Amino acid sequence: MFWILFSLVLLVSSISTDGHHFGYSKKNQHLWMKDHKTCAGKLQSPIALSTTQSLPLPLPALEMIGYHDFLKNPIKLENNGHSVTLTPSIDSINNTNSENPYIFGGMLNHGKNYEFQALHFHWGRKNNRGSEHLLNGVRYPMEMHLIHRNKIYQNMEIALNNSDGLSVIGVFFQLQEEANPRLVPILKVLPDLRWNNSQVSVNSFLTLSSLMPSNIEIFYTYKGSLTTPPCNEAVTWIIFPTAVPISLRQLNKFRLLSSGEGSLADNYRHVQDVGRRKVYVRRIDLAVSNKTKIQHLNMTNLSWYWE
Ligand SMILES: [Zn+2]
Repeated sequence: MFWILFSLVLLVSSISTDGHHFGYSKKNQHLWMKDHKTCAGKLQSPIALSTTQSLPLPLPALEMIGYHDFLKNPIKLENNGHSVTLTPSIDSINNTNSENPYIFGGMLNHGKNYEFQALHFHWGRKNNRGSEHLLNGVRYPMEMHLIHRNKIYQNMEIALNNSDGLSVIGVFFQLQEEANPRLVPILKVLPDLRWNNSQVSVNSFLTLSSLMPSNIEIFYTYKGSLTTPPCNEAVTWIIFPTAVPISLRQLNKFRLLSSGEGSLADNYRHVQDVGRRKVYVRRIDLAVSNKTKIQHLNMTNLSWYWE
């Protein structure tokens, strides 16, 4: 009896301390909101994006600083059972010469910089699914998320509890015949990440710009959430409609990974209600065609646009 109780206690404690335990089946996704009320909130992600239902604005460009620099080594890659994450060594906050990549511009509040923290992927078991966001009805076979933390917040924990805490860039992947050589630094590590909870540290010459689409001028932006529990509504999403190419052979390397319960794939959340939210799309041609009013668009306080 003692041993039964003891093992029960162990089991319970391992569930309650492991906030990362969640599944992607339809039934499992429904359970997310049971443990995490925010997952049933009104500003949830992902959503279905559509050109015709987005509001075009001549937004400032998205500025990506340090995206052409090599990420700081060693770079940690991990299979955490629901994705592959990549985390570079981050300069400490107290280092005034901090050179971690960061972004600003777009719909991000004026003067606020968002520092790159980590990236990860969502992909499908079949080619017609995998991405979390939909674009004009299309679900891409893979989507990458680059997580950035608003530098006014000292750490992720604080950022996650503020509506302007994070900005996540979403990048779609699209199948093409030829392999994409820029993905090789990540792909060659995947065999070492076959099993759940495996991680490796590599010294690699990898830049974030090498993972970006060819066109970063146009993007969608809206207020949403993390797409995994606890679903914090802290994210200003930036999604590029131009996809990055990947070959089937390359994509299949992701599908060989294990989640601990089977193959790791179809790790995408179902689309959530847009509700009363506004989705903006950056349109640079507007500034030319309608120059009188729009050139004076006041970008110093954007909160009005989100109301
Ligand atoms: Zn994600």
